[in-house]
Amino acid sequence: MNKKKRLAILGSTGSIGTQALEVVAAHPGLFEVEILSAHSNAALLIEQARKFKPNAVVVTDESQYQKVKEALAPTQAKVFAGMAALTDVVQWETVDTVLGAIVGFAGLHSILAAIEAGKTIALANKETLVVAGELVMRRAAEKGVRIIPVDSEHSAIFQCLTGEDAAKVEKIMLTASGGPFLGRKTNYLVNVKASHALQHPNWTMGAKITIDSATLMNKGLEMIEAKWLFGLRNEQIEVVIHPQSILHSFVQFVDGSIKAQMGLPDMKLPIQYALAYPVRLPNDFKRFSFRDFTKLSFDQPDYKTFRNLALAQEAMEKGGNLPCVMNAANEVVVHAFLGNKVGFLEMSEMIEKTMEKVPFVAAPTLADCEHSDHEARAYAAELVKNGQLSVY
Ligand code: NDP
Ligand code: MG
Repeated sequence: MNKKKRLAILGSTGSIGTQALEVVAAHPGLFEVEILSAHSNAALLIEQARKFKPNAVVVTDESQYQKVKEALAPTQAKVFAGMAALTDVVQWETVDTVLGAIVGFAGLHSILAAIEAGKTIALANKETLVVAGELVMRRAAEKGVRIIPVDSEHSAIFQCLTGEDAAKVEKIMLTASGGPFLGRKTNYLVNVKASHALQHPNWTMGAKITIDSATLMNKGLEMIEAKWLFGLRNEQIEVVIHPQSILHSFVQFVDGSIKAQMGLPDMKLPIQYALAYPVRLPNDFKRFSFRDFTKLSFDQPDYKTFRNLALAQEAMEKGGNLPCVMNAANEVVVHAFLGNKVGFLEMSEMIEKTMEKVPFVAAPTLADCEHSDHEARAYAAELVKNGQLSVY
């Protein structure tokens, strides 16, 4: 019973990855790092490998391989390069749990490989379920693999469902802080720059999800993530604006009773919960006090101003490859917005145009998802290049 959980931490240099390593460091008797992966941040990956002594390190940006290999030569770590190596090492027998904390579509294949090998999945990479949720959940069920959410809202729902009959869920309510532009209208948003959008009021996260939070695309992705994770119908999923980010989501049951999970906004809590599941571990994270939050408020989202949320709802309802197409377009326009190449409002326009353009596939295979992803990226990149969409 005192065997340590051996972890593969994919995306270890990111916001979730580094916080996961803090959780691991706080519980040396419980966790052991077997694999670390990063894309191009060689310096941090090397530092992490020296500290956590994994058996293998994968750097997916192959141009960084030599640097990492040389630096880790005196250690026991085997160093690999590229995505194919990553999908291979996650299947090693010495891995128990895989934390998927890569950002974007790039996280999909390693998670699928881990599912094939029967690994327990702690899933932060919501895009995996957005682009191929049906396939991923079906394969996980066939393999008897448990997917434990890391996303705070989904961790909340997962925790609320513990001990409950999933068939007795009437609906879920996903809370959204509303991001830095809550209450703003298009006349303001037309001028905002990436530097504004990167200032999230409650959470410190990677750049992509921070922009997604500002546009509400993050909540749209999370609706689709919840649909697949918890096997919900579209009409069972609701979004509620809750600017304080204390209630992390609600589940309403068939008798009208509502359970919610609460806590200060700190991703280390859902990360720890997912890694340690089913054990609830003690920690010294800062505690919530009612004295600091005498008012908790709730409101409706503004679907007209934050059109990404409406687009995601549409993608969820139409299904097929549409969420995959939307996700790809979103990744492209967010990257362009971060580089000040498109405006805040143009992002939704370009996503919508891409969703209209790429042919619909009702029941996509994995190959269809990959194809749709490529097509959508190419089309969205073209829109960014031409940059002539703004109607505001
Ligand atoms: P970051 O951008 O901070 O980190 C992303 C990680 O993925 C880094 O380790 C990065 O490596 C790696 N990576 C990036 N691109 C690739 C690629 N093409 N192939 C392989 N690895 C890659 O992101 P976050 O930690 O913020 O988010 C990770 C995931 O977790 C996202 O899906 C996000 O939606 C989700 N999530 C995040 C939350 C948060 O609080 N941050 C909350 C809930 C969900 P490198 O550093 O070398 O570039
Ligand atoms: Mg979330």
